[in-house]
Amino acid sequence: MDFSNLFKNQPKVVQLLNNSHEKDRFVHTYLFSGPKGSLKMDAAYYFASLILCKNGGACGKCDDCKRLSRFVHPRLFLISPDGENIKKEQIEKLEHEFSLTSDDKRVFIIKDIDKATPSASNSLLKFLESMSDDSYGVLLTENSFQVLPTIRSRSAIVQFQPMNNMVVYNHLLSNGIDETYAKIISHLTNNLSEGVGLSNNEMFPKLVNLVEDIGMSMESDNANLYLVFFEKGNFLLKADKKYHEYFLDLLINLQNDKIKYCYYLKEDIAFQYLLDTCTFRLSIDQEIKILDILLTFRQRLNTNVNIDLLYTEMFVKIENIYLREE
Ligand SMILES: [Zn+2]
Repeated sequence: MDFSNLFKNQPKVVQLLNNSHEKDRFVHTYLFSGPKGSLKMDAAYYFASLILCKNGGACGKCDDCKRLSRFVHPRLFLISPDGENIKKEQIEKLEHEFSLTSDDKRVFIIKDIDKATPSASNSLLKFLESMSDDSYGVLLTENSFQVLPTIRSRSAIVQFQPMNNMVVYNHLLSNGIDETYAKIISHLTNNLSEGVGLSNNEMFPKLVNLVEDIGMSMESDNANLYLVFFEKGNFLLKADKKYHEYFLDLLINLQNDKIKYCYYLKEDIAFQYLLDTCTFRLSIDQEIKILDILLTFRQRLNTNVNIDLLYTEMFVKIENIYLREE
């Protein structure tokens, strides 16, 4: 999982988690409280990767981190409302899992804990009271005051601030910018004047178009990315470096969105309109590998590189991932 969005938008939360991790002073139950879209789930996964990582915390490279990035770690348990509510049986199942003997640390995450039925809340409370030293949990809510006071008092409450990108988003909307563009721009920058500048920049719609074409080509059979790029992205080749940064940032955003979308983490994604009509052809592993490649080449852009060569290499690498038969 790419945590850069979390680091950028919730630095205080990240600092708190990092400090507790360094001092080895995690509490066993956290209550993450904050408005919709404030990256609580991202932070919960970050917390899990600090605890479960073999190399001392969120290294991103070990087996544990890799499993976490695929959302399939055997020692991470995720509960979200089954229909309207979190039901007692769901908590009992969790309790059972955690009662099995293990020498390793385990983490559970419960989304929308305020939707737990009274009997589920009571079971959870008992479970929290009897949790072993190797067990950790994160409860997520949009409103901590709707959480049972007894559960609240057993948890360390971490308050999430509304995202800055919502400020940018709302500002652009009130300036008459199209909703889709406002959303995308708010994922690119937290800076109001940069956001307004982008929305007035005639290059921006072209960049978005190009990113849509390339991102969706990956999902269709035999697409040649290199060709798509050189047919439609010609305008970019001679452009200023900052447009290449935007271009890659947009591609990274879209790739991240695909991964989140596949896991129903749809609350904070920029390209929902595109993904709603997309038939995903690639496996989640392939999507994650492509994201890794994009991130690597985005970093390479910061050094002095030959742009043509950078794109050529990047697209070949990506094609190698998705043209390879599974
Ligand atoms: Zn690791």
